[in-house]
Amino acid sequence: MSTDLVLDGLVRRFGGAAVLDGVDLTVPAGGVVALLGPSGTGKSTVLRLVAGLDTPDAGRVRAGGRDLTGLAPERRGTALVGQRPRLFPHLSVLDNVAFPLAVAGRRRRAARAEAAGHLDLVGLADLAGRRPATLSGGQEQRVALARALAAAPAVLLLDEPFSALDPGVREGMHRLLADLRGAVSPTVLLVTHDRQEAAAVADTVAVLLDGRIAQAAPAGELHTRPASLAVSRFLGGVN
Ligand code: ADP
Ligand code: MG
Repeated sequence: MSTDLVLDGLVRRFGGAAVLDGVDLTVPAGGVVALLGPSGTGKSTVLRLVAGLDTPDAGRVRAGGRDLTGLAPERRGTALVGQRPRLFPHLSVLDNVAFPLAVAGRRRRAARAEAAGHLDLVGLADLAGRRPATLSGGQEQRVALARALAAAPAVLLLDEPFSALDPGVREGMHRLLADLRGAVSPTVLLVTHDRQEAAAVADTVAVLLDGRIAQAAPAGELHTRPASLAVSRFLGGVN
């Protein structure tokens, strides 16, 4: 059921400067890759190109053998969760999660039943009737994750989803993400600037420096065998 995600030579220029200058990256089907890099290097731009919220100046995005590059966002099988959950304040937690199912044409009762299952997956079955305003930051982000999963994406895109959370809550989210992989298995591309987070949740950590993937390897290997001085410097190995 899972599909791989392949970024092939992605270029994105803003005002003449190439923020992304040939990004090549593969996330294997059902795998988790963390995209790590300094602030402003283009990590969010990569996710926006995959989600179809922005268009590359060159290069392709493929998933499961399909070329997504020209497709509308809703036809890509991707779901994006950002740093701040954007829940509908006037809807209950359950109806927030049911929303993408209703949009997909499910009847109200079926959508709610399915949404309840997704809420259960993120450990929030008890809060189904609450309004978003009454939730903690971590709970809100869990709801956002449940809503993204309800759309049954082949590719889940996470843009620093836990960075606004307290460290303890963040660790809980890392465990949740690991647990979710047993239950549903979307291919995950997680953007983070937190090395510990990358090591905790990803099979492979890809370092974005100067518009390209400077290295993609298991977290341990990045530290023991950095591919360049730039990678080593970024990881703090050499000063
Ligand atoms: P990151 O997520 O790694 O912090 P971003 O992808 O948000 O980086 O941004 C990378 C660079 O591209 C930044 O310099 C940012 O100002 C620029 N940028 C991003 N989107 C736009 C845009 N729509 N127009 C102009 N510049 C942009
Ligand atoms: Mg960003």
